[in-house]
Amino acid sequence: MKILNLNEGSFPIKLRMELDTLSVPEIGKLAKNLSIEAKISKISMNILKCDGTIDGVFIDICQNCLKETKVHIRNQIEVAIKDIKELLNDTSDQDQTHYQDLEYFNIESFIEEEVALVYPNIVKCSEECVTEGDTHEEKKNLPFKKIRDLIG
Ligand SMILES: [Zn+2]
Repeated sequence: MKILNLNEGSFPIKLRMELDTLSVPEIGKLAKNLSIEAKISKISMNILKCDGTIDGVFIDICQNCLKETKVHIRNQIEVAIKDIKELLNDTSDQDQTHYQDLEYFNIESFIEEEVALVYPNIVKCSEECVTEGDTHEEKKNLPFKKIRDLIG
């Protein structure tokens, strides 16, 4: 586990790392290491900014035909990081803000949060499977619709 103290030190901090496992629920297995390149800059006393890229290939299962499917994630990170202590006072309601303990900043859990955000909700092996999948999903949602009708 890599912990940084973001209340001290000189900025920007440049990070380049590889992760071979991620503890993110309901995502595929990493086919190769996830690589992360990032730069953490200090904007003000309690606000930091992280820019960079996440790149990884996951082996997942097509939701429709259950075939093994590769999911390639290449995503830009561009988030503000604020001290977790600010969470209760913050009324700005920005969803691009991560709240972290700046003194014990866990870079791995930060990356895991990012991956969880960008990982596709629906994994499909091909475009065709997407079309078929739509009908499947409607069926799957039916019981929920009924419940919703009862409540409404
Ligand atoms: Zn499929």
